[in-house]
Amino acid sequence: MNMIDTIERQLAQLDTDKLTRTRRIVDSPCAPRLLIDGQPVLAFCSNDYLGLAAHPAVIEALAEGARLYGAGSGASHLISGHSRAHQRLEERLAEFVGPHVESARALSFCTGYMANLAILATLGADGDGVIFSESLNHASLIDGARLAQAQVKVYPHADTVALAALLEASNATVKIVVTDSVFSMDGDLAPLAALSALCERHGAWLVIDDAHGIGVLGEHGRGALEHCDLRSPNIVYMGTLGKAAGVGGAFVAAHAKVIELMIQRARAYIYTTAAPPALAHALLASLDIIGGAEGAQRRAHLRALIGQLDEGLQLRRWRRGASSSAIQPVIIGANEAALAAAAALYEQGLWVPAIRPPTVPAGTARLRATLSAAHTHDEVARLCAALNQLERSAP
Ligand SMILES: *Cc1c(COP(=O)(O)O)cnc(C)c1O
Repeated sequence: MNMIDTIERQLAQLDTDKLTRTRRIVDSPCAPRLLIDGQPVLAFCSNDYLGLAAHPAVIEALAEGARLYGAGSGASHLISGHSRAHQRLEERLAEFVGPHVESARALSFCTGYMANLAILATLGADGDGVIFSESLNHASLIDGARLAQAQVKVYPHADTVALAALLEASNATVKIVVTDSVFSMDGDLAPLAALSALCERHGAWLVIDDAHGIGVLGEHGRGALEHCDLRSPNIVYMGTLGKAAGVGGAFVAAHAKVIELMIQRARAYIYTTAAPPALAHALLASLDIIGGAEGAQRRAHLRALIGQLDEGLQLRRWRRGASSSAIQPVIIGANEAALAAAAALYEQGLWVPAIRPPTVPAGTARLRATLSAAHTHDEVARLCAALNQLERSAP
């Protein structure tokens, strides 16, 4: 039993450090109002920013997709798993980001995690490459950089001066700058225009992970590139489809040659079964909503809720991030204190997750509230009141 003893020691250490994670079982569709263990809970946790995960038109398209294409794809894309639905989705996504990425072609993936692995492993396959990685990047970008054959240099959060110096000093033949657009645990937006200008000046790729921007940012919901009015041949764009798009999967949009190389070489693309075509079919419906009048209305409501939270939260000791996005962190510090705050909220029927290291830097454990267009003003008012009150009574 020696092997299990080793595992038990590791688990005990996590417990001691207050880093053990647990799962709650949800018995209802993704929505602000959830049923958990038979109890109603008001959740501020999901990345379903537009409330499309349980949208009737998307659900219906998913069912129709299953009737048209079956439940599963049966094979990888390069064998027989690439269905008409996947092809349509990719064409649609290329149009969607077309105004911002020159000669754009799109490639769909099962998850954003895999898309990021594929991008960095493909672009960074040259042994002489350097990946310049923003310090608060998502774990999937960090893992992608580890997988690539390239050297990795981390630059401080949002520090374009430090990045410029690193680029200046580098004589690598392939340079890859990689960043989240909206940072997933802080909610702030990377200085994309400055990053893009730097990348053009230094002949570097700019890999943008728009997991939290697509669908939410920009007049037509096209994401951070639309929001910042960016267009560059250097951009390799990654958008996820399980957050604001409400379904699942992800895609990469970049110059057609980059995409062709990924199809030929990216192991995270090649060696996995294609996502069920029904998901692609449902995503076409979801993109219709995002790009249409209903999407615009949902984005406007979400922005109003963010403004309401911004005004309604009156915190003195707990620090708020510099976020104007749907991701709203309240930074508490110690793991135990963040857990206690989350537990106290849950007692009142409010689910706001505590986020601890290694997801965030040590000493910055936090509550991370996420807002959705499916929330109401009353619900956000309830959250503000509970957080204000909790901070006052916290030790
Ligand atoms: C969620 C997320 C991912 C991973 O996307 P999945 O489709 O959930 O695998 C990648 N990057 C960022 C910034 C994310 O928030």
